Amino acid sequence: MAARILSGNAIRDQIYGELAGEIASLRAAGIRPGLAAVLVGNNPASKLYVNSKIAACGKLGLASFMLTPPASITTDELLQVVNELNQRDDVDGILVQMPLPPQVDAKKILDAVDPAKDVDGFHPINVGRLVAGRPNLVACTPAGVMEIFRRSGIPLEGANAVVMGRSDIVGKPMALLLLHASATVTICHSKTRDMKDVSRRADIVVAAMGRAAMITPHYIRPGATVIDVGQNVITDKAEAERIFVNFPEKIEAFRAKGSVLVGDVHPDVVTVAGAFTPVPGGVGPLTIALLMSNTVKAARVRRGARVPAAASGRS
Ligand code: NAP
Repeated sequence: MAARILSGNAIRDQIYGELAGEIASLRAAGIRPGLAAVLVGNNPASKLYVNSKIAACGKLGLASFMLTPPASITTDELLQVVNELNQRDDVDGILVQMPLPPQVDAKKILDAVDPAKDVDGFHPINVGRLVAGRPNLVACTPAGVMEIFRRSGIPLEGANAVVMGRSDIVGKPMALLLLHASATVTICHSKTRDMKDVSRRADIVVAAMGRAAMITPHYIRPGATVIDVGQNVITDKAEAERIFVNFPEKIEAFRAKGSVLVGDVHPDVVTVAGAFTPVPGGVGPLTIALLMSNTVKAARVRRGARVPAAASGRS
């Protein structure tokens, strides 16, 4: 039986529809939620990410502010930028796009963001709240994955879930969210032995390693739900042809563009999974949707608006 495609684009549109009502109520109360993005230097990938976040703000009618300090900025100078944003009442959410230049102490910068405006959910206070089961602002990518499960009716209680990757921004918060949803969670990383055996026992696999197409059908129990967080750009022709041997349209796309996006999950997994997220169009759109959702939530909470959250189940 063909695997069910879990479309992130469709779920993003649902979330945007719900947010529109909430934003309209806030606007009626004189509040326009605002997101400030700090983009240091000229990293093209970072520019692309930040531009798509700013574009999403425009689409939803949120205010957005883009700050673009030079790559030569020092830790102290960037701390000052963050402190000024912390003070501004029209800024509800602050995101500092990673990576930062090597001379900047990234941890110091992230710790300086007001936890009430930490829409990326990276501040230790927000991480601690998540650990304690009292989440406030949660990292957008794993929170987006939870929306995929919930809105697609994928049961988590008692499910065996394997999270591949233990980064602070994806793997760890993902594992905690699944744990709080009463899944039995195993976290794998680069030192895990026999990851294939571990993952073949899983009802749910979340791959977040940054390893192009590593998770082949041999890792997947037939019928399992597979969430592919990975985003890897392939520019090598032979590699693209090897990965997409059963997907000629992707090879065509590679020939036209000179590159192709692939997740951490091999495209052939479609033949064994029960449900899976495509790349692109799976987890990616949800990351931005949850950033918008966090910004609206931060505005509601911080500015004390008596505006109810949209009846969406997002908290
Ligand atoms: P990261 O910080 O580099 O962490 C990668 C994790 O994967 C580490 O915990 C690492 O283990 C583990 N790992 C690496 N190779 C492995 C292997 N061969 N076997 C098992 N585990 C392995 O990456 P990240 O920031 O979490 O991002 C992961 C991927 O998600 C990337 O492709 C990134 O582009 C993508 N991403 C996508 C979105 C989105 O919106 N779709 C958002 C964020 C990230 P160790 O800890 O032992 O080194």
